[in-house]
Amino acid sequence: MAAAFFITAAAPAKERCARETTGETARESPRVALTFDDGPSDYTITLLDGLRARGVKASFFLQGQCIEGREETIRQMQEDGHLIGNHTFHHVQLTKLSDEQAKQEVVSTSNAIYKITGIYTSYIRPPFGVWKRGLDYNVTMIPVLWTVDSRDWYTQNTPVIVNDVMKQVKDGDIILMHDCFKTSVESALQIVDRLKQDGYELVTVDEMIAD
Ligand SMILES: [Zn+2]
Repeated sequence: MAAAFFITAAAPAKERCARETTGETARESPRVALTFDDGPSDYTITLLDGLRARGVKASFFLQGQCIEGREETIRQMQEDGHLIGNHTFHHVQLTKLSDEQAKQEVVSTSNAIYKITGIYTSYIRPPFGVWKRGLDYNVTMIPVLWTVDSRDWYTQNTPVIVNDVMKQVKDGDIILMHDCFKTSVESALQIVDRLKQDGYELVTVDEMIAD
């Protein structure tokens, strides 16, 4: 009798505990994924330091041709838990290339990232948002687009970028930015501060897609 009582009493407590610690509770706060294309650049380290100081993770889609000489930057990205994805080697529109060339653009970039991180990324932001399906890229690649375009490369004006993004942003958004302009890095850190003030949780794109 005593044993049976123990089991039935313990089970609901355990269940309740499990429910309280699932993502359901966490998802009560709105979430946003900040993404950065075209790097790494000389400005990326400043961005990484700013994100580290704020305890925030983002996603970086790297151009293969920008990787050599910036290995330390990429190591810091990995150390700090950012998602590292592929943005082709030469920033090309994959659908304009032959199958062999397209595959080469993707695979060579993933290989360059692998050499530094030991991880073969599954995530790609295809340049111009155009993905070429059906090719063998060695692993299944997951194309990640965006829902808010900061137009940071176009305006290169910090207050304009920050206001533009803050006007549009909502729960579940993936924000497109570029870590190759000083103004983009300044804007990104201001956007992080504003989002945190507004109660947003900043996540990587794999976390966003997983839910
Ligand atoms: Zn790009």
